[in-house]
Amino acid sequence: MIQSGSAPNASATVEVERETSGRNHQPEATSDGHVDGNALAGPLSEVFAVDLTTATSRCAHCGCAGPLARLHVYAQAPGFVARCQRCKEVVLRIVHAKDAVWLDMSGTASLAIPTPQ
Ligand SMILES: [Zn+2]
Repeated sequence: MIQSGSAPNASATVEVERETSGRNHQPEATSDGHVDGNALAGPLSEVFAVDLTTATSRCAHCGCAGPLARLHVYAQAPGFVARCQRCKEVVLRIVHAKDAVWLDMSGTASLAIPTPQ
């Protein structure tokens, strides 16, 4: 489900760390097996018409805010589980089933999606 070569929208207004925004960025797993939030670009593009990796989410558990690209994404589950970069609680889950895409954002207090200027 991960699209190779996917990258955040370069015209977005939200700053994303340089090392995670390159056009040929390939998420690399850390020692605990998570990759960065850019891994959500493919699965979320099946649901939303805009690139949400540049959107700013606010964690419902600890209140911290940041680009989705900074979430810690675990793809070893039957879908994608994105955890807060600070408190490690689940922020969102996305599962592609046979005839539906399930999106659980109960761990997201808000989501700010940049609009074109
Ligand atoms: Zn948090």
